[in-house]
Amino acid sequence: MGFQNIKDKLKTPSTIVITTHFKPDGDALGSSLAMSHWLKQKGHEVQIIAPSDFPYFLDWLPGREEVIIYTEQKERSDQMIRDAAIIFCLDFNGLGRTQDMAPSLQAAEGTKIMIDHHLAPEGFDDERYWDSSAAATAELVYKFIVHEFDDAASISPALATCLYTGIMTDTGSFRFKSTTPEVHHIIADLIEKGAKNWEIHENIFNSNTETRLRFLGFCLAHRLVVDPEHRTAWMAISKQDLVDYSVGTGDTEGLVNYALSIQGIQFAALIIERQDIIKFSFRSIGDFPCNEFSSMHFNGGGHLNAAGGNAQGTLEEAVRKFKSLLPTYKNLLTQ
Ligand code: 5GP
Ligand code: MN
Repeated sequence: MGFQNIKDKLKTPSTIVITTHFKPDGDALGSSLAMSHWLKQKGHEVQIIAPSDFPYFLDWLPGREEVIIYTEQKERSDQMIRDAAIIFCLDFNGLGRTQDMAPSLQAAEGTKIMIDHHLAPEGFDDERYWDSSAAATAELVYKFIVHEFDDAASISPALATCLYTGIMTDTGSFRFKSTTPEVHHIIADLIEKGAKNWEIHENIFNSNTETRLRFLGFCLAHRLVVDPEHRTAWMAISKQDLVDYSVGTGDTEGLVNYALSIQGIQFAALIIERQDIIKFSFRSIGDFPCNEFSSMHFNGGGHLNAAGGNAQGTLEEAVRKFKSLLPTYKNLLTQ
């Protein structure tokens, strides 16, 4: 793992950029903010640059106001990426996941330290702290600080809050298989260190707007398609649907899980017509490999039970392609 190299690098105050994947989720932003809180305490000069905006329900996270968004401040961001001695790359393992930021990161001379839990890292990093069995990147950031640096004492309530959020969101509120006893021990420690679990759940899950809830109703009533033969369910959302319900970043989060929650369904997809691309979210129960399905057919990847991808062309074409693939996977889907 070359951890000694990372330790040596962090011994003296450094100029550090932290970045994460496009459309950061709770784990991406939570682990980035946690790392930033810790590095600042250690005397480093730190800037988080997110490749894009993120869901409104993450807006309350401690330190969020210091995050800059690449697409909004491109020149300033590029300069900081060029000048950084160290670039922490959190919650992604291929530069493509940072979209417009990828060329600047590629060209950057600073040491790239990847902390991540996605399968099959691409290899852009100089150093890595990687474990695909980790429930969240936030779990790895916790271990990085507490186990590798023996620095539990530096976990402030703000830092604990960010890590709790990352682990909570990536484990579906501690429901997924990845939620090991160790994860619960870490969570207990984070609560002891000041993470207010009830407040975090309230901020993330009870912050619906009326429009968002009505959009959910619309999708369930008019966009959900169930294919019992292939134990698959999906929703295809058009650009016009997004306009009709003023759908913003984060408003479609979790939608795919409703499709997966139907009795007997093993595989679910959310297919969204974005500006110039069709975006897929895949979820499965059991052994159906969403990541393989996505990388083989939709230019994507992720985990066994949760992956994402994309396609060119129209929404109708994307749906047709998706449906036409299901018979090929019939054996896997009806075990
Ligand atoms: P989501 O459906 O929530 O956007 O993403 C689910 C999982 O798949 C996440 O772990 C995410 O990192 C990964 N993922 C989403 N979109 C892509 C993509 O376009 N490419 C790759 N390689 N992974 C993706
Ligand atoms: Mn993650």
